This record gives sequence, C-alpha cells and structure tokens, in this order.
Amino acid sequence: MRKPLVAGNWKMYKTPKETEEFLKAFLPFVQNNEIAEIAICPPYTSLYIAHQQIKDTSIKLGAQDVHWEDEGAFTGKISCKMLRDSGCHYVIIGHSEQRTYFYETDETVNKKIKKVLSNHLVPILCVGETLEQRNQNQQKEIVKMQIEKAFQTIKDIGETVIAYEPVWAIGTGINATPEQAQEMHNFIRSLIQSLFNQEVAEKIRIIYGGSLKPENAKEIFSQKDIDGGLVGGASLKPDSFYKIIQSVI
Ligand code: PEP
Repeated sequence: MRKPLVAGNWKMYKTPKETEEFLKAFLPFVQNNEIAEIAICPPYTSLYIAHQQIKDTSIKLGAQDVHWEDEGAFTGKISCKMLRDSGCHYVIIGHSEQRTYFYETDETVNKKIKKVLSNHLVPILCVGETLEQRNQNQQKEIVKMQIEKAFQTIKDIGETVIAYEPVWAIGTGINATPEQAQEMHNFIRSLIQSLFNQEVAEKIRIIYGGSLKPENAKEIFSQKDIDGGLVGGASLKPDSFYKIIQSVI
C-alpha cells in the first residue's frame, strides 16, 4: 500500500513570520491526521522557522531546489547538507518554473537527483509536457524522455516521488481531467517498471500537480495511480490546503 503524499510548494511566497503564522493556524487541523503524509516546501529563508514548528509533528519539510555540488564558490546556491541540517526530508527537483526560467535541464536534474539520493534526502522529481506538446499528442514521449534522463545511470531511486505536472495546468486554474492524469500516471508507472522492476513500480508514489483545489482534488485523487498531489497556490492558505489533504480519503 502506497501512503499518499500531499506536498505544498510555496514557491516565492511567505516570509519567516508569515510561515510561522501559517503553521500556527494549520497545525491544529492536522494533528490527528493519519491518512496522508503531509509536506510543506517553503522558501529557503523559512526552512529554519518551519522546522522549529513541525519537528515534533508528522509533517515533513521540503526544499524547492538544491545544487549538485557539496560546497564551493557557487554564489546563491544551497547544498544538500545545508538542507538536511535545516530539517529537510524532501527536495523538489526539475519544477517546470526552474526548467522555464532558470536553465534547469534534464542533465542538471540528473546531477541533482544523484546528489540528493546520496545525501539521504528524497527527491520529488517534476515532469510534464507543455500545452504545445500536448496539442501535438507528444505528452508521453516528453515525459518518458524526462524520466529516462533524470534517472540515467541511477540504479536505486530509493523513495523518490514523481510529480506529474502538466505545464499547462500549473498556476493556470485549468487542471488535467482525472482521466488525463490517470492515463499519464499509469504510463509513468509502466515506464518505471520497464526501467527498474515491478516492485519499484508498485512502490513509487506518483503525485499530480497543476491547479489542484478543494473542488477538484477528490476526483483526481480517486484515480488508481494517483498517490496524492503537489499543490502550489492552494497550499498557501491553511484551510484550502487542509481541504485538499482531506480529499485523499
Ligand atoms: C506547482 O507549482 O507545483 C503547482 C502545481 O502549482 P499550482 O497548484 O498553483 O498549479
């Protein structure tokens, strides 16, 4: 049985003070939650304060990116060791905003995943096609290539989570239909089986991201191969994030 994961990607929102306020309001909602694993991925500057507030709870902390080197003259970058010492468990890798605006490539994704795994952190690998690619019916080909390159020369992907996030659904208010999402999740699971083996394919959590809201989460989460969600905008408010978590049941 795969335990569903609902992770909030806060992007470049919330100061440390706002993070503290969010968690004060959010923690009472989820103190008895056993349904889903919950994670929040705030900006780097909020990791410390968030860790202080959640360290005695079951909520996990994640970062939104990492650099693939251990340390060095890499102004502006953060290492796995820094994230681990800040209390992180997860690291989002290859988010489409990183790919679109900050020169993330399948090669840098591969380097980051290797480093994250060797540092005992858990990658949340984001993949997904653009609208143009979907209109040309290339979604499977694109996602296949992204996953094959991300895992190139990696034999053991550990607890890695894959987030299927169609780019056209991120922040647009237009979500994939449950059928479209299920088709892609099923495709990804089969691909994992062919790249690794059946055991890995059955174990790996494949979560959906792209305009998840309290109104659409239940139907999307009810699909067989969808193991939770990566939530952007709707994770910024305690009540909407909590409603999405409740939709996992
Ligand atoms: C995301 O940033 O990963 C995301 C899915 O954003 P949103 O939920 O706002 O579409």
